[in-house]
Amino acid sequence: MKNARETEKKWQKFWEKNQTFKASFDPEKKKYYVVEMYPYPSGELHMGHVRNYILGDVVARYKRMKGFNVLHPIGWDAFGLPTENAAFSRGIEPVVWNASCVESMTKQFKSLGLSYDWDRVLDTSDSDYYRWVQWFLTRFWEKGLLYKGQANVNWCTGCNTVLANEQVEDEHCERCGSRVVEKTMSQWFLKITEYAERLWDDLELLTEWPARVIAMQKHWLKNNDGSLKIRDWCISRQRYWGAPIPFVVCEECGVQPVPDDQLPILLPLGADISPGWPPPLARIESFVKTTCPKCGESAEMTTDTTDTFVFSAWYFLRFTDSHNQEMPFDSKMANYWMPVDQYVGGIEHATVHLIYARFFHKVLHDMGLVDCPEPFKKLFTQGMICKDGKKMSKSKGNVISPDEMIEQFGTDVTRVYVMFMGPPEMDVEWNEQGVKGISRFLGRVIKFYDSSVNLFDSNWRETVLQASNVSFRRVTHRAIKKVTESIEENLHFHTAISALMEWVTALESYLEEPRRETSVISEALEMMTILISPFAPHMAEEMWEGLGFVDSISFQKWPAWSESLCEQTSVTLIVQINGKMKASIELSKEDSMNQASVEQLATENPKLSELKEKTVIRTVFVPGRIINFVI
Ligand SMILES: [Zn+2]
Ligand SMILES: [Zn+2]
Repeated sequence: MKNARETEKKWQKFWEKNQTFKASFDPEKKKYYVVEMYPYPSGELHMGHVRNYILGDVVARYKRMKGFNVLHPIGWDAFGLPTENAAFSRGIEPVVWNASCVESMTKQFKSLGLSYDWDRVLDTSDSDYYRWVQWFLTRFWEKGLLYKGQANVNWCTGCNTVLANEQVEDEHCERCGSRVVEKTMSQWFLKITEYAERLWDDLELLTEWPARVIAMQKHWLKNNDGSLKIRDWCISRQRYWGAPIPFVVCEECGVQPVPDDQLPILLPLGADISPGWPPPLARIESFVKTTCPKCGESAEMTTDTTDTFVFSAWYFLRFTDSHNQEMPFDSKMANYWMPVDQYVGGIEHATVHLIYARFFHKVLHDMGLVDCPEPFKKLFTQGMICKDGKKMSKSKGNVISPDEMIEQFGTDVTRVYVMFMGPPEMDVEWNEQGVKGISRFLGRVIKFYDSSVNLFDSNWRETVLQASNVSFRRVTHRAIKKVTESIEENLHFHTAISALMEWVTALESYLEEPRRETSVISEALEMMTILISPFAPHMAEEMWEGLGFVDSISFQKWPAWSESLCEQTSVTLIVQINGKMKASIELSKEDSMNQASVEQLATENPKLSELKEKTVIRTVFVPGRIINFVI
C-alpha cells in the first residue's frame, strides 16, 4: 500500500471529482439527515473543535452503508462579532476576512475526509442566504411576532457605542477599559413568549434528547417566566457585520416592511466600522436615505443589523434546498429530509441556540412551510477535548492543530484516535502516546491486508458455509455484531474500535495457522475493510480497490452477522460409563455435535482413564447432551 498521505489525497480527490456524497431528493428511499452544528469561520480550527465533525461523519458514513439516503451538509455561521473585531484590527473588510477564514477552514475540513455534500454549502453572510432571513422578518412582523420595544443595553462611555455582553468585563469595556453603563434604547424583538408554552409542552416529543438538555431547557423556560416577566428575544444589534433589518421608517406611515421584490437589503461594502456613535450603517447616507414603500415619500432605512442566532435558527431547513432562489426552501424538500435525524453539537448550545431554533421552526411550521413540529429528532452533545487538563483554546496556548496531526500521522489515524479517546459524551484528555498506539493499530490492519490480499477470493460466499474453521468465523461475526451495536448504542465508537482491535489480533494468529482456509480469510478481510471504513475511510477505500472492487466503499452494504455464529457456544456434555455418570466435559457447540470429537476429548480426560484400559464394546451418543460408553 502507498503511504498514508498519498492514499488520503488520492481518495479526497476521488470523492470530490465523483461528488460521492452529493445527496439527492428521492422519496422512494428512506432518508437519514445528520447535521453537526455548523462552525463559526474563525480560521483557527483545532482538535477540540473537530470531535463533533468526525462524530457526525462516522454516523453519515455508517448510515449510507445501512442503505439510507443520507444528507450530510456543512455551512458557515459567518456573521459574528469576532469577525468584525478581527477585520477591524487588521484594517480589512469583514467580508474579506470572512472569505479567507472560510477558504482555509474548507481546506481543513476536506483534509479530514469529512463526507459532506459540498454542493449545499451555505454562508450566512451571503445575500443568497440572508435575503430569506430578511423575508422571514417581514413575515414575522405581519404575524405580530416581530415588534419594536425598549430594552436596556450595555453602553460604553468611552467608545460611545452599544456593547455585546461578551464585550463587557466586570462593568468595563474590554476594548477601551472605560466604564459601561446601562442605557435604554429602542430595539427589535421576536415574540418567543407567545410560543413559550408550546416550547415547554413539546419537550415531551424529544424522547431522544439527553435528559440534561431537557432539564436545562425547562429551567430556562421557567426562569424566563413566572415573577421575572417572560422576555422576548432581542434580535437587533447596533453593529456592522450582520444582515440589515429590512424595515423603513416613514414620518407619515410609521414602520414599514421592505417589500419582497426589494429584498435583499444588501450590507454595504466599504463602511467605516470603527467604534463610536452613530453605528456604522447610520453613517452611510446612501444607505439611510430611502423612500417609503407605502406613500412614496422620503423615509429612513433601519440601521440595525440582525443577531447571529437568527441565522442559525433555520439553516438546517435551507440545507434541504440550498439553491432555491424563489423561496427559503421548497416544502416538498423540507418535508422529505426533516426532521434532522441526528444533530451533534456542544452542550453550551443546550439553551439559547436550541430554543431559538425550536421556536423559529415552530413559526415556520405554523406558516405551513414544514410539517414536523420539532426540528431535531435526536440530539447528541459531545464532550470537550482537553490538553493539560484544560479546554483547548488559543489563549491558553494548549491548542493542537489538525494540520499538524494530519501531517505527522495522517487523517485516518487522527480520525480513529479522536473516536477512540473515550465515550464521546465525556470530556477527554489529549494524549500523544494514544495517537501513536492508533498509528500502530492501523499499521497492523495494513500488514494483515498486505499478507492476505493475495489469498482473497471474492467468491468466498459460495464456499464459506462448508468451511471447517467455524470457530474463526465466529470471531468475525462477533466482531460485526459488536461494532454494529456499539455504533448504534449512542455513538460509542470507542468500543467499536476496541472490538476491531481484538479482531485484528485474532486475524493475525489465524493467518499463521496451517489449517487456515481461504474462504474464511476472505470473509474476514472483506468484512474488516467495510467495518473500518466509517472510521478510516481513505485506507478502507484503498484496501477495497486492492481487493478488486470498482465502486467506492462508501455505498457498500453494511454486513449482517449470523446470530447462530454469535451464540454462546460452550456446552456441558455428560459422559457415562455403563450408564453411570463419570464426568462432564465443556466443549464448543459444534464439537458437542460431533461424535468423533467427543470420543477424543473423553479419552483424553484423566477421570475417564478406564476408557483407555478397557475395550469399548458399544457407544450411545446423544448429540450435544450425553455419551455413554459400554465397556
Ligand atoms: Zn469602549
Ligand atoms: Zn410613508
